[in-house]
Amino acid sequence: MKILAGNWKMNTTFEEGYNLIEALKNELSPERLGDVVVVLAPPVVQLTQAIDLLIDYPEMAVAAQNGHAKDSGAYTGEVSMAQLADAGADAVLIGHSERRQYFGETDQDVNAKVHAALNHELRPIVCVGEVLAERQSGDHLAIVEKQLRAAVAGVTPDLAENLVLAYEPVWAIGTGETATAAQAQEMHAHLRGVLRDLYGDLAQYLPILYGGSCKPSNGAELFAQPDVNGGLIGGASLVAADFIALVDQLQKA
Ligand code: PEP
Repeated sequence: MKILAGNWKMNTTFEEGYNLIEALKNELSPERLGDVVVVLAPPVVQLTQAIDLLIDYPEMAVAAQNGHAKDSGAYTGEVSMAQLADAGADAVLIGHSERRQYFGETDQDVNAKVHAALNHELRPIVCVGEVLAERQSGDHLAIVEKQLRAAVAGVTPDLAENLVLAYEPVWAIGTGETATAAQAQEMHAHLRGVLRDLYGDLAQYLPILYGGSCKPSNGAELFAQPDVNGGLIGGASLVAADFIALVDQLQKA
């Protein structure tokens, strides 16, 4: 499965979100999408607007950007995985580097959220990636492997088939810096090997997305790598023409 996911982060008004989705619906016919599944992650207040607008577009799914691991309770300001599923979301981003960096999310939090999402039939899009100093240390493969193993600890093979992984080098997110296609492939192949160790043959079917300043000028080369099954797109997902161009590149890859 190929996936192009758009992470809108804390951007867009209701009207901007509406216009963006309408623009995508107008252009992205099932024929044009081919085997690409689009996932849109709007701000949580616009989740139901997105779900309603895409009700007749099963090839475009809606994800939340975060969710709480507990089903309910006294957690002011939080929204649970159970509530996201109840609202009609299909998927949820978990462990995005901005959640780890600004909101103190740990590998243990990420693991609890992955279990909660799977329990509520939300597809977890699990984000992992190293910071610049970690890459410069040369230990980036081991560091990201550790994040992945922690994130999916205790996830049994029957549930693992719903996992989506996103490799996002933190030094490339929102910076304009992109990992080279070779750097992305090296990490994706390594993570595929970890998934094979954990889940055997299933690993070849689990999508591993690349994220980090992916845009039309570099998408085709990244998507052409054998272990890159799509993209998690931040900035370029806010511009309909750019996101559509990335869909086309992924479809042709
Ligand atoms: C992201 O937020 O997941 C991301 C990859 O952002 P950007 O594309 O803007 O680097």
